[in-house]
Amino acid sequence: MFVYPKNYDDAKKEFIELTDELKKQGYHLFKSQFEISDGLFIDKVVIKAKKEAKNRIVFSSGLHGIEGFVGHCAIKHFVTTMINTLSDETEIVIYHTLNPYGMKHLRRSNENNIDLNRNFSSNNFSNENKAYKKAIDFFTPVTYKGIKTANIAYYKNIGKAILKHGSETFKEATLLGQNSFAEGIYYSGKTFEKSTIYMLNEFNNLFNDVGKLVYIDLHTGYGPRYQMSVVNSLGDKYQTINMKKECDYPLILGEDSTDFYDIDGDMIEKLYLIKREKYPNIDFYGTCFEFGTLGDSTKKTIESLKAMIFENASFFKPQTENFVIYSDKLMREQYMPSEEEWRKKANLDFNKALKEIVKFKNI
Ligand SMILES: [Zn+2]
Repeated sequence: MFVYPKNYDDAKKEFIELTDELKKQGYHLFKSQFEISDGLFIDKVVIKAKKEAKNRIVFSSGLHGIEGFVGHCAIKHFVTTMINTLSDETEIVIYHTLNPYGMKHLRRSNENNIDLNRNFSSNNFSNENKAYKKAIDFFTPVTYKGIKTANIAYYKNIGKAILKHGSETFKEATLLGQNSFAEGIYYSGKTFEKSTIYMLNEFNNLFNDVGKLVYIDLHTGYGPRYQMSVVNSLGDKYQTINMKKECDYPLILGEDSTDFYDIDGDMIEKLYLIKREKYPNIDFYGTCFEFGTLGDSTKKTIESLKAMIFENASFFKPQTENFVIYSDKLMREQYMPSEEEWRKKANLDFNKALKEIVKFKNI
């Protein structure tokens, strides 16, 4: 069962201890850290293959800050119970917490309010989110009098926004990413962030010297509550079709465009682009594991947006102490559910999906 570390510092400490333990067991590994802001780091560990490396598997967590708690638990499970099931010819690379500020402060976005999974732009941040601009009133952070008035205002405003702009426009507005409102949610920024620049450099190293690369990015918040989704790139449709045939896993997405929402600046899509441009011959598979939390009905989508809107309002505007505690709780339940049954199932799903991928890719 996934058991969350208390905070970012404990997660980092536990990760370092886990890698020290591997060293004691005889693994050869290299550790490094990259400072993002004061005392906050991306920790990287490379665990060398026992023989000459022909394959490489990569895990990254916490691109969306707070989602790094579940990501940490998944990495811990892999390191403690699954690492010895890999081939002797597979090297492992782990990036622990790509957005340490967000993990430390229980936010999705980073120290500049940027959603890093909208920051790997392939078109110089030129995408315009017109729907977001239209519904800007809804996304503007305000001070609330208290929890009750905030809820009344939220449901009234979201009802108004959907009536005025239509539910499709509104959905597009929320998820696509936007570069026009720096204090809004899903802000992509207009230039690459420090974490992004660091990872873009890393990507070239990851593609080098091996024939096969598997990259798994760990997320929470999207999809059905009790079934982790394996979210493949739409650009890798044929591999997805093969996976669905060969892997014994019930929820593999990416075969058609209705499977997932469009976003610009997605990290996995950027990896595919680099592969196509510079490393066409490598056997590459990149995916996101999405641990669903609230669920995927319209009602639940509205609830999950509420957590983000309230947390963002708490970050940018003065609020009552009770409201801050309330919005913090909504965020935790949305991105790191406390329920035991959920944490048990998340662990089982991670184990199952990874086992199937390791078999499928023969790594
Ligand atoms: Zn995420």
